[in-house]
Amino acid sequence: MQDNPKKNPSKPVKRYPIRCFECGKEEVRPALVSQTVKRNYEGKTHELEIQDLPVTRCAACGEIYYTQDSDDKIVSALRTYIALLSPEEMRGRITNLAMSQREVAIALRIAPETLSRWLSGSLIQSRSMDTLLRAFFELDQMRDFVSGPARNSVKPLEDAGGLLRMPVGPSQTWQRLSKAGTSPIVGMGLIPSSN
Ligand SMILES: [Zn+2]
Repeated sequence: MQDNPKKNPSKPVKRYPIRCFECGKEEVRPALVSQTVKRNYEGKTHELEIQDLPVTRCAACGEIYYTQDSDDKIVSALRTYIALLSPEEMRGRITNLAMSQREVAIALRIAPETLSRWLSGSLIQSRSMDTLLRAFFELDQMRDFVSGPARNSVKPLEDAGGLLRMPVGPSQTWQRLSKAGTSPIVGMGLIPSSN
């Protein structure tokens, strides 16, 4: 079998064992380890105890190298630890609303790419966005609020010349919601709770 790596430089084939950066021995292979991993989220460091974390490990010196699979598992553990909506939950809720991802992104004034990355698990949402998502999925009034008069006052994102324009809910929206008795939304601080 000819396998000159120079023939196909753009497609490195991962073959094990590979050489260890630490000790130089060709002893690095996939392994599952249990580890305490530290991750930052919103300015705070969280320690996560993770079982069966997929890594590659050097059998000679014990050095451990993280892979994309390691990162995926760590991000997923962090999400569970902070009790954020999982990508599966978000996808399920969007399906239940019979909305497209794009419609949800436009309603929430977020870039469709951002939502797409939350749904693929490659990006973790902030807690405030998680709260907004939960309210959007849970409350009819919330969807009415972001899709109603406020939405009509702004062009769709793709027509806004690249600017993300955040419309301020008109006062009649506030009055309408106020009459409908939407105290949960007021309680979330989305609308000033003045008299
Ligand atoms: Zn080594």
